[in-house]
Amino acid sequence: MRLDRDPAPASRLLPALALAIFTCCVGPSVAHTAPPSRPTAAAKTPQGPGWISPQTNRYDATALAAIAERVTTVRAAGQVPVVVFDLDHTLFDGRPRTLVILAEFAASVAAEQPATAKAIGRIALHDIAYLLRDTLARVGVTDPKVVAAAEAYWKPRFFSDTYAQLDVPIAGAPSYVQALWQRGAVVVYLSGRNADGMLTGTTASLQKWGFPVGVRGAQVVLKPSFSEPDDTFKKASLEQISALGQVVASFENEPGNLGVMATRWPTAIPVFLDTDFNPGGAVRTPPAAARWVGDYTSAPRPATPAP
Ligand SMILES: [Mg+2]
Repeated sequence: MRLDRDPAPASRLLPALALAIFTCCVGPSVAHTAPPSRPTAAAKTPQGPGWISPQTNRYDATALAAIAERVTTVRAAGQVPVVVFDLDHTLFDGRPRTLVILAEFAASVAAEQPATAKAIGRIALHDIAYLLRDTLARVGVTDPKVVAAAEAYWKPRFFSDTYAQLDVPIAGAPSYVQALWQRGAVVVYLSGRNADGMLTGTTASLQKWGFPVGVRGAQVVLKPSFSEPDDTFKKASLEQISALGQVVASFENEPGNLGVMATRWPTAIPVFLDTDFNPGGAVRTPPAAARWVGDYTSAPRPATPAP
């Protein structure tokens, strides 16, 4: 399936909307500070993925350091350590992308549907769910025709170079990936984004935020086309990644993908990002061997050079 694209609205509205939304509610809350407070009951009894109800009691503060040490050890033994990272909801937070697109959609219907536009205008970053219909339902927008129109507006924009550049990294991600790469790891970004529509934006975003990209030891592997299912694409990519060296860790927010990797690379460390995952996926529980993190802030800090 090839999605139609209409970049004109983005080129007109994106800069102003992005600036306004980032200024008021996106940037600081995503990349540099703690997530918004959540109901106490939800914290005691997790009812969803990490961005809704983080399971902080499962977080492993030593996992990131252990992987860094393993990279060093494998490299010292003369082998090539490989670390695999998913992108969406693993290294990047894509919710700002959806927030901006919804703001555009609201603006486009404001004249004829002011109540809908007003309701969508109340959506904040922590309201963004994996599925757009769930996000809209949180502010009372449930009319099937409106939801369908919003999805039709959102989809071609969400999966596009232009809007992909609105993503912000999960806290600590760029410096951690850089640290692994500098220790000698081959970093593979394995994502279900489609190369024919998102490679340019993805590469630009990685570069903008300081991830190693376009250099020796860093590879971006995306789907050839949008129509290929993410899970079959990733599974088919594992053998080629295995040929690069010794896979020492894989990072994923989708429990099913992480399970496949844990099976293929039993000696590697599987890391589950407790952010968000597809509620319609066949697997909703990470593999037992997974080590959980909410972000990358527990990574060891590089040694400070002597003055
Ligand atoms: Mg993902």
